[in-house]
Amino acid sequence: MIEAAIEVVCCFCGKSFHQEQAVILAVYPTDDRKESQNLYCHPCCLKKVVSKCVPLHPDLYSEIEEEVDNNDAFPLSNFLSFLNRLSEAHISYHLIHSMEDAIEVHVDVPGERWEVDYFADGQVYVERFTNPSGEIKDEKELEELFRLFSD
Ligand SMILES: [Zn+2]
Repeated sequence: MIEAAIEVVCCFCGKSFHQEQAVILAVYPTDDRKESQNLYCHPCCLKKVVSKCVPLHPDLYSEIEEEVDNNDAFPLSNFLSFLNRLSEAHISYHLIHSMEDAIEVHVDVPGERWEVDYFADGQVYVERFTNPSGEIKDEKELEELFRLFSD
């Protein structure tokens, strides 16, 4: 017999999810009350609302860290906002997927080429070909691209 998963509502974000994944918050309205109200929440929602200076139960940390790790992976919104900016500035580009762990953006502008590599671990390398030293720059260099070539 398959047990139906019990759904609970996260008291912070209001979404329902499985009870087994929930953290239970026991609320005693006053110190002398014997009965508590049980509230459920996502471990990550708890982490967001509790001040960083309050250490949480150690069992929560492994789960929380996994989620944080996932959030730290390839920042898609960052990547997309770069592509949107290029489009808005009418700068032509194309995407190349030649490395296992990165997406390259090749930007062709008069007299130079920029290659911007977005790595899975969140790193961004900017290479600018006119730059005689061929040195690798960081993401800040991209401001220069928009400054020079936006129309
Ligand atoms: Zn939640």
